[in-house]
Amino acid sequence: MKRPMLIAGPCSAESEEQLLETAHALSGRVDVFRAGLWKPRTKPGGFEGVGAVGLPWLQRVRCEAGVRIATEVATPQHVEAALSHDMDMLWLGARTTANPFAVQELADSLRGVEVPILVKNPVCPDLELWMGAIERLRNAGIRDITAVHRGFSTYDRNVYRNPPQWAIPIELRRRCPDLRLLCDPSHMGGSRELVAPLSQQALDLGFDGLMVEVHPHPDTSLSDREQQITPDEFLKLVDRLVLREDGADLTANKNTEASLSELRDKIDRLDAELVHLLGDRMEVVERIGAYKRTHHILILQPNRYNDMLRVSTELGERLGMPREFIEKVLQAVHEESIRRQLDQT
Ligand code: PEP
Ligand code: MN
Repeated sequence: MKRPMLIAGPCSAESEEQLLETAHALSGRVDVFRAGLWKPRTKPGGFEGVGAVGLPWLQRVRCEAGVRIATEVATPQHVEAALSHDMDMLWLGARTTANPFAVQELADSLRGVEVPILVKNPVCPDLELWMGAIERLRNAGIRDITAVHRGFSTYDRNVYRNPPQWAIPIELRRRCPDLRLLCDPSHMGGSRELVAPLSQQALDLGFDGLMVEVHPHPDTSLSDREQQITPDEFLKLVDRLVLREDGADLTANKNTEASLSELRDKIDRLDAELVHLLGDRMEVVERIGAYKRTHHILILQPNRYNDMLRVSTELGERLGMPREFIEKVLQAVHEESIRRQLDQT
């Protein structure tokens, strides 16, 4: 069982005292101390950070609390200032990752520098854009790169500030199994009470650690007030985290291994059955397509599709599966069916 990597600290550096107070309270319990100096605000007028004056404050934190220090960079000027003050780690924020021009400029300014970089996911749910940013940094010679999942913006109101859409980081993990992956439950949840459950969920999904916003007096913080927790709350959260064994460690427990591998075999067999069934379904789809073609019938028949969706979602619900889940699956199947029928024409 690997201990999760922990990064914590305030959303923004507000004063030297605030940083030192937070860092002392976290001393010995976190791997890296974070604080934003240049804050990308969605609208003008918000607190935009103290800027470069905070760099020596962070250096003092490292010296006094014996912890590595990290801050966000969004322009080559930030990189230059941060490196000239020896930051141990830098991160690219979600708004920056969304912009390939900005990422490329940052990558160019980091060429030849041995500093670990965290790359937050872009604000939009676009895995390619996230991976593209990582690739640009790799191409510039950065070797120590960590992805940070902080959820994705939506237009709808939601319990989460940035809904997790876990399938996206899970796919990132599948494609880049060696990339370190952290979760930022603070920006994801957007509220104090969601930080702990999201942290646990992330670890249950195999994330390598957490990046959490911690402020000594959240109610008076100058940014992201609702989501910051106190150092005390953070340490309690960490103590309560349940660490699970990952698959590779299971040999430690032969019984678990036996029953788990049986269950996995079963899943593999069911998956194979599912794929065979889909294949059979596609064959029928093609026969229907041929019929429609010879009889000059439109390929897409919304009524038929709606009926099919209704029947299957009702069945799914009776079997304990949410309507949205069945809809998603059937939509994917339907899309492929339409594609095949179009191909036949
Ligand atoms: C932050 O970490 O303070 C921050 C601005 O986060 P994000 O880029 O994920 O919105
Ligand atoms: Mn923040």
